[in-house]
Amino acid sequence: GRSMAVFTSGGDSQGMNSAVRSVVRMGIYLGCKVYFIYEGYQGMCDGGENIREADWNLVSDIIQRGGTIIGSARCKDFREKEGRLKACFNLIEKDITNLVCIGGDGSLTGANTFRQEWPSLVKELLQQGKISKEKAEKCGNIQIVGLVGSIDNDFCGTDMTIGTDTALQRIIEAVDAVMATAQSHQRAFVIEVMGRHCGYLGLVAALASEADFCFIPEWPPPTNWREILCAKLHHTRSTGNRLNIIIVAEGAIDREGKPITVEIVRDVIKNTLHYDTRATVLGHVQRGGNPSAFDRLLGCRMGAEAVLALMEMTPESEPCVVSIDGNQMVRVPLMECVARTQAVQKAMDGKEWELAVKLRGRS
Ligand code: ATP
Repeated sequence: GRSMAVFTSGGDSQGMNSAVRSVVRMGIYLGCKVYFIYEGYQGMCDGGENIREADWNLVSDIIQRGGTIIGSARCKDFREKEGRLKACFNLIEKDITNLVCIGGDGSLTGANTFRQEWPSLVKELLQQGKISKEKAEKCGNIQIVGLVGSIDNDFCGTDMTIGTDTALQRIIEAVDAVMATAQSHQRAFVIEVMGRHCGYLGLVAALASEADFCFIPEWPPPTNWREILCAKLHHTRSTGNRLNIIIVAEGAIDREGKPITVEIVRDVIKNTLHYDTRATVLGHVQRGGNPSAFDRLLGCRMGAEAVLALMEMTPESEPCVVSIDGNQMVRVPLMECVARTQAVQKAMDGKEWELAVKLRGRS
């Protein structure tokens, strides 16, 4: 059987463990040797104990846990060729030529670079006398499949990323919790949720929690947003409501590109309407807790599909991302998705918000 390794990289998200479990078990089921790479690319560069063989039972009792049991990291070394040469050596030592990378667009970009460079890295190791000719021949190419783990749902090419649904659950629980106190004291709550470049969590949380207003990066409000906001809140109160909920995505901006923060919104409401107004930043709570059933299943399905994809790949195959499209697992070209994700960011940086939203939708 083949040797494959699975690692998690970049920000953690709930459901990554389910994906890791699924890769390990599907791999073993199909007769492969499966390795864990601990601490993302850092573990790949450092080698040693960071690369260890997995077995069936090691992934028991993890499907319900948040985060990632094999650790994640941001790694400077892997951005340099020197680091990738070390990583290549550490993988070849164990005959690993198949990788499942679970991470965001940065991690997947790194994986793609690594694959393109691989033959030349192998050549260099051979010339340095670090590996034998047989090894070099046996491990001349590497196959890569990506899975997107991110709470932000910020990746083009998949309907959902692993972790988004659970993060939404955490947000909704928190909003429900403050609504009780808001109701009692007739307060307005301005709540910041994650999403530096992507307003998905903010928008969907606002819909699901019956919020009065939301601010997201893709939809900077009209310049008179202060008046529009206050008129809306005033109207809500005048119809008998005792509270207001306003959701602000971390990356929310106005039309000039200046940040709209929870403090700014709170002060607008306080100073104009004189409501008792509180700002709450949910922060890392959103990454925490047990994964939802949806994220467990998503990780499970994506992990299994990733292994099937690796088994079918040849040295010529381009890397792919396993994504969910209309509740089906599909394989899409990795670099196309990364390029589209980066194009969205470029459009947003250029204040072309409509283009950004269009690019993020289906092609
Ligand atoms: P998140 O969505 O949580 O930010 P991400 O995967 O986009 O996840 P990054 O910090 O961008 O997070 O990337 C994670 C790691 O991937 C980096 O620390 C680095 O080791 C590697 N990496 C990212 N971009 C590249 C690149 N262009 N070349 C090589 N390695 C990269």
